[in-house]
Order: sequence, then C-alpha cells, then structure tokens
Amino acid sequence: MSARILDGKAVAAQIAAEIADQTIEFIQNNGIQPCLAAILVGDDPASSVYIRNKQRACERANMESRLHRLPADVPEEELLKLLAKLNKAHDVHGILVQLPLPEHIDSARMLRAVNPLKDVDAFHPENVGRIVQGQPRFLPCTPHGIQQLLVRQQIPIAGSHVVVVGRSDIVGKPIANMLLQRGTDATVTVCHSQSRDLPAITRLADILIVAIGRPRFVTADMVKPGATVIDVGINRTEDGLVGDVDYQAVREVAGAITPVPGGVGPLTVVMLLHNTLLAAQHAA
Ligand code: NAP
Repeated sequence: MSARILDGKAVAAQIAAEIADQTIEFIQNNGIQPCLAAILVGDDPASSVYIRNKQRACERANMESRLHRLPADVPEEELLKLLAKLNKAHDVHGILVQLPLPEHIDSARMLRAVNPLKDVDAFHPENVGRIVQGQPRFLPCTPHGIQQLLVRQQIPIAGSHVVVVGRSDIVGKPIANMLLQRGTDATVTVCHSQSRDLPAITRLADILIVAIGRPRFVTADMVKPGATVIDVGINRTEDGLVGDVDYQAVREVAGAITPVPGGVGPLTVVMLLHNTLLAAQHAA
C-alpha cells in the first residue's frame, strides 16, 4: 500500500495564516510591526532564492523585512559592525545571517555576534544550550517545522524510536535534542557518515528523519514497513529537486512520507516567521 503523503505545503499555509492573524493582533495591541533583518553576503543564486522566499513570507504575514546585501569580499569587521548596529536597533526584532558565508569569514564568530534575543535562527550558543537543557527561547526553523508537521499530522512521537540520519548543527543535532526532551519523549538514535551498518539502524525507526544531502540515498530496504519518513534533503539534480530519500520506492513501504519539494522546505520558512513574532513579543 502506498504511504500517506505528508503535505508540508498545506501545513505551512495553515501555520502561516495563524501567524499572520497573531501578527495583526500584536500590531494592534502594541503599535509595533515585527521586523526581520536579513544579511546576504555575496550573490550565491540558491541563497538569493532562499532570502527572497523568506522576505515574501514576512510580507505576507504582515511583518517588515529588510535585506542588507554585502559584497562577497566584505571584511569580517564590516559584517560585525552591521551586526552590532542591528543588535541595538529597537525597530529590528529578528536578525538572520544567510549561510553559507564566503570562506574568508568565520561563520561561528558571526553567529556568536548576533544578539541572542534576536537570534531567530537559534544558532547562537546560548540558544543552542537552552534547547539542550529543555528551556528553549527559539527553536531552529527546520527542526521546529518537522516537529510541527509530525504533531499536526498526528504522528505519535512519545515512546517512538526516531532515527535521525545526519548530525549537522542546523538539522540533525537540534531535531534529535528536541525530540528526546521530557514531554516529547521519543527514543532517539543519531547516525552519520561513520555509522556502521546504517540500514540495520534505519530499519528500526518508527520515524526516520534524513538530512544528509545525498540524492535518493535512503532506499526501500532501509525502511521499516509502516514507518514515517521525513526527507529533509534538497538536492539539485538533472531531474530537478530531489530529496535524500528514493521517494518512489520508499512510498511503497512507508506508512507516511514527505515529498520533495513540498515537504519540510515550506515549513522552515514559516517557523522563521514564528520566531520573528516571538522576538517582537519578547521585546514588547
Ligand atoms: P550537512 O551539514 O552537510 O551535514 C550532512 C550530515 O550527513 C553529516 O552529519 C554527515 O555525516 C551525514 N552524512 C553524509 N553522508 C552520509 C552517509 N552516506 N551516511 C550517513 N550520514 C551521512 O547537512 P545539513 O545542513 O543538515 O543538510 C542536509 C540536507 O538537508 C541538504 O540536502 C540540505 O540542502 C537540506 N536542508 C534542507 C532544509 C529544508 O528546509 N528542507 C534545511 C536545511 C538543510 P558526518 O557528520 O559524519 O560528515
């Protein structure tokens, strides 16, 4: 039997509408419009598309969005100066530094320079630490989107065995941390490129979350029949955008699966809006 398709686009639209309403209410009550400042260094085409999508989403949600474009060869000190200015600006509530940054810039140093109260990507060490301790200020956007999708599609998490493939700071580590917290109560296994006999581990998953950046890497024999499969991967191939999961084959085995595109991607953008509103609420 073919898997249920988890329509991330539809869930994202539902959340975006909720946020747009909450934002209008916030503006009426406080006379402040939530504002996201994004910094884009260089002219990487994929980053430009991501930034444009985020800006449009902000505007649709009644938020202000500002874009600071810097040349690819901008010195680190200049980027730090801009961050210091945005950190102090009372009318800026969220700050986003679009990654990846050019090689000559120390990304970790830049992320540490963002005011943790405006860190809507939740990449600052203070915010990461809070997530690990189960006291989040902001949740990182992609993991939060995955969690919302699971909850809103009524996929049981508590007591389930979640296998996360990939241990990046952006997806793998934070989603693993979030799902194992008390109250969410998953049993979590994290795998990576050095994991021995990966298929034997992924076949144990009730919920399999894949974020590795390898087109169609997860095949049907790696999935337990009936499992929920969340494909975070976005890979540009000759056949267009594909995920990290062999969608056509795996959907015949899984109980539920996210498509690419139209799965996790749209949720990432709306959870950024959620964090921007949250930052404005904290500031007010
Ligand atoms: P990343 O920083 O490149 O990390 C990749 C992870 O995958 C690493 O932990 C790596 O292991 C692991 N890995 C690589 N090859 C593997 C293999 N053969 N077997 C097992 N593990 C393997 O990745 P990322 O930033 O998390 O991104 C992953 C994918 O998700 C990319 O396609 C990216 O475009 C996509 N993405 C999508 C969204 C969205 O909104 N949908 C958001 C973020 C990222 P090691 O640590 O051992 O190297």
